[in-house]
Amino acid sequence: MIIVGAGIVGASFAYHAYQNGVSKITVLSSHLPGDKNQATSNTWGWVNGYASNDKNYATFRLANLNYWPKLINYISNLNYTSKGAFIWDQEEKELQKTLKQHRSWGQSVKISTKSELKEYLPNLINTPTIAGFGVDDLAIDGVRATKELFKASQSKIIKTNVKEIVCETNNVIGVKTDDEIINDDEVIITAGLGVPELLSTINISFEMTSSLGLLVYTKPLPSLLKYPITGFDFHARQDEKGRLIIGGKFDDDLSQEKNINYTAEKLIQDMATRLNYNGNMILDHFTLGTRPLPIDGRPKIGRLINQKGEKLNGIYLAVMHSGITNAPLAGRFGIDEVLTGERNSLIRDFSPQKTVTQEEFQNV
Ligand SMILES: Cc1cc2nc3c(=O)[nH]c(=O)nc-3n(C[C@H](O)[C@H](O)[C@H](O)COP(=O)(O)OP(=O)(O)OC[C@H]3O[C@@H](n4cnc5c(N)ncnc54)[C@H](O)[C@@H]3O)c2cc1C
Repeated sequence: MIIVGAGIVGASFAYHAYQNGVSKITVLSSHLPGDKNQATSNTWGWVNGYASNDKNYATFRLANLNYWPKLINYISNLNYTSKGAFIWDQEEKELQKTLKQHRSWGQSVKISTKSELKEYLPNLINTPTIAGFGVDDLAIDGVRATKELFKASQSKIIKTNVKEIVCETNNVIGVKTDDEIINDDEVIITAGLGVPELLSTINISFEMTSSLGLLVYTKPLPSLLKYPITGFDFHARQDEKGRLIIGGKFDDDLSQEKNINYTAEKLIQDMATRLNYNGNMILDHFTLGTRPLPIDGRPKIGRLINQKGEKLNGIYLAVMHSGITNAPLAGRFGIDEVLTGERNSLIRDFSPQKTVTQEEFQNV
């Protein structure tokens, strides 16, 4: 089996393929975990179940939230940084509505009052009146998780660019890299933002969009935040090294931002005014990552069809935002489908060449 793309999604496919008895897995990727051009290297790493007004997607996210701890159990060097996360990025009424909706879908989300917030976030200066608390939310180090999943998969990983998918009639026979043709009858494409270009080599037009996310890392600090927090115009969490990882408004697009250095410094200065800490908060470094965004916001996982509507054999696609949340079951159900032909009902709605409108989400 060939997997194109060595981010968290490719790693989950490799891991689950190996678990299901696929012994020869070759991963081809132009960038590796930790390289700055990967989305996975630049992630905030919040695993959560939120998907407002989209029950089916929220259900898939919740299933991933429940599966992550099992995966962590199976892999010895993998762990989460924190469990539970607070949000208050909406007006009170909206937030109540969001939480109520997600609770009705079976999610463990609750409302925390000001006095509870003071207890759980004692270093926060301006405690909001209420916040949502995702009881089972996790923070995961994306690069570490990806490396550990690959290690457990015993894959052969080659740093190379794939130029072309090679097909004969409607069957894949391999891929062409910058250096060679590698033959295989099963190619899994987990290439993030590289997907449209790769699919264009087999005449499939696949539309995606992207946005640029900035995260700043402070030098290590004493313990200030036990839980990740997301307010109106900021999100922050503290990692195992004691560094705060701070972003602006969640999912903000900074592609038009002219002065990134200033914006990065400002994120730290603003955070220093929110937390009770008398020492200096110093910028260690920042990351700029491009989010791979399928056009309707939902993951795209599954087999492909050509322009005539005929099935292409041996090609499987998985591309998504929120890949840290979604990768575990995308890989597990994806590999099940590749090996058995059976499609799990939780990914039924995420066929790659089907998009859904906002109205359709609401009517589910
Ligand atoms: C700032 C930011 C914050 C985020 N925060 C969160 C969060 O809190 N929670 C969450 O769940 N998600 C979050 N995400 C999203 C998440 O990080 C991504 O959805 C996920 O990392 C995507 O993983 P991937 O494996 O699909 O893509 P990538 O990690 O980008 O990996 C794709 C790989 O494919 C390779 N590739 C591409 N084209 C080719 C080619 N032609 N030949 C060979 N290799 C190729 C690339 O080199 C790359 O290594 C965030 C993303 C960003 C940028």
